[in-house]
Amino acid sequence: MRAGPALALVVSCLFVSLAQADDPAVRIELDTSEVAHLQKWGEDARLLLLRWYPRIDNLLATKGFKASRSVKLTIRKSDEGVAGTSGNSIVVSSHWIEKHPDDVGLAVHELVHVIQSYPNGQPGWVTEGIADYIRWAIYEGKPQSWFPRPKKPQGYKDAYRVAAGFLLWLESERAPGIVKKLNTAMRRGAYADELFADETGQPLDALWDAYVAESR
Ligand SMILES: [Zn+2]
Repeated sequence: MRAGPALALVVSCLFVSLAQADDPAVRIELDTSEVAHLQKWGEDARLLLLRWYPRIDNLLATKGFKASRSVKLTIRKSDEGVAGTSGNSIVVSSHWIEKHPDDVGLAVHELVHVIQSYPNGQPGWVTEGIADYIRWAIYEGKPQSWFPRPKKPQGYKDAYRVAAGFLLWLESERAPGIVKKLNTAMRRGAYADELFADETGQPLDALWDAYVAESR
């Protein structure tokens, strides 16, 4: 009978972990009703979102802010487009998946938009730069040299991977934590270019020029 208390402890731990498993950080509703042949891709993407939601939510934490705890993932039968997000609804085009079945990571980029929840009117290069920074630098783990660095003034306005590489450089070279600060400012509708100077002592455009000069 001496094993009794230990067994009880094991059983109670099991119940605790089961209870946690039953209470995920987010609920992902998958709709592949238009494209039954892409059900497997949808399931893979759904699992990716379940795993990455809590990580991205922590990376982009803002005091007093809670992102939507439910996400809808729809694969739509379509001959064009890639993917888009509106509110907590992610829509992926069947055309893109059929051509690029390995591109499941695009779901991470779209999930960032759900979690960002920025009000309208924020600069698109920051929105897309943060989404691609999390997808390519954090999720895919690409090195700094992988990111395109166009040699032109204000190249960061190309957004996406270009802005993502710039953010990665700022995080490692000039202003650790700047992505979180930009994210909080964007959520509050309080973004201003001056944030870069406040964090680094150098204006945004001069930072971009320094970033480009480093690659020559
Ligand atoms: Zn995007």
